Amino acid sequence: MDPWVHIIGGGLSGLSLASSLARFDDLPGRVVISEPNPEALASKTFSFWFSGDEEAFLRPEYSSSRWTLSDENHRVVHQGTRFQYGTRSGDHFLDSALQEIHNHSQIDLVHEFIDTRPKATHCFDSRPCAVDTFQLTQSFAGMEVIFDQPHGMSEAGLMERMRPTDSGLQFVYLLPLGPDKLLIEHTEFTARPADFSALAALNDRYLSQEFANKPYQLVRTEAAHIPMGFKQRAQHWGIPLGARGGMTRDATGYGYRTIRYACDQIAADLVKYDVARPFRRSAVTTWADRLFLNLIENRPDIIPQILMQISHRMTPDRFAAFMMMRSPSDLIHMLRAAPAKPFTCALLGRYRWI
Ligand SMILES: Cc1cc2nc3c(=O)[nH]c(=O)nc-3n(C[C@H](O)[C@H](O)[C@H](O)COP(=O)(O)OP(=O)(O)OC[C@H]3O[C@@H](n4cnc5c(N)ncnc54)[C@H](O)[C@@H]3O)c2cc1C
Repeated sequence: MDPWVHIIGGGLSGLSLASSLARFDDLPGRVVISEPNPEALASKTFSFWFSGDEEAFLRPEYSSSRWTLSDENHRVVHQGTRFQYGTRSGDHFLDSALQEIHNHSQIDLVHEFIDTRPKATHCFDSRPCAVDTFQLTQSFAGMEVIFDQPHGMSEAGLMERMRPTDSGLQFVYLLPLGPDKLLIEHTEFTARPADFSALAALNDRYLSQEFANKPYQLVRTEAAHIPMGFKQRAQHWGIPLGARGGMTRDATGYGYRTIRYACDQIAADLVKYDVARPFRRSAVTTWADRLFLNLIENRPDIIPQILMQISHRMTPDRFAAFMMMRSPSDLIHMLRAAPAKPFTCALLGRYRWI
């Protein structure tokens, strides 16, 4: 018998769908997840903004109500009231998803690499797309380090020391994971995928400059190229899921919250109606993100200034809601805070007028 559901890839989205299906005791058929290396998920961390009523589902392990952005001259500190910035480790997510799958008699994780479309009533494809299909790329290299003494940081440094490069924008992302642990990631939004070793060298330099007298040990590293929009549509083996299915935000690369909720909805529709509906992001989000990507591609020099102005003029909660693009009104609040000229010129395709 062919499986009822076959999920290609047991990364964040594949396991999210499987664990949402595992909540139903009696499924219409067998569910198979094919994944050659499930443990790879353990080397990632997922951060996101969440409100109190989302905590039980999104399950952050660390959270902070303060986050910051800075360029070479200014710094903005946000203190959220409705939203907090939370982080869940891939390790934690993987453990609980594997437990849920293991406890369900109709769901199996198979350690295998799939090279043709499997036969199943519903097939989901979460294989990552090739980097050369990305419109822009978010490249980052990160180091999680543990200090011998408290590092003294309590807020998440979302985009610190933003500066333009010849192909986009560079910044450092600083995430406290407890009083003595820190994740440091040099990141680029770039038209040409960045060199991981160059970004890793910047992490080393940052640590030696900013924490000169604080010895630390390296806990783990992570590095990735994440899609920021796609130049062309890929061929899918069934319904696309996760980053392949447009569940990561083009303008930011954030995907955890959307993936978790979208996969939960897909699971509910599968069980209730035996129908697999692909994820559709709102046209407004796609349009706004495309405008922003075009600005990065054509005028990277003005991006730090624009982001600083937006974060300075928006309230912290509105900024957080916009980053997760929870409703179309979040975009209106962002556009009201944004400088009018760059966005108007971008709309007209006249980047030199900015
Ligand atoms: C290092 C890293 C950190 C991130 N941090 C954040 C964050 O902080 N916040 C946030 O919101 N988003 C974050 N993201 C973005 C997004 O949430 C992740 O990319 C997320 O993992 C996307 O889920 P996915 O299921 O599409 O892809 P993946 O999790 O990459 O899963 C795809 C899986 O498919 C498997 N696979 C590939 N080919 C085959 C095949 N032929 N057969 C079977 N299996 C196959 C792979 O082994 C892989 O496990 C991060 C991404 C990365 C890479």
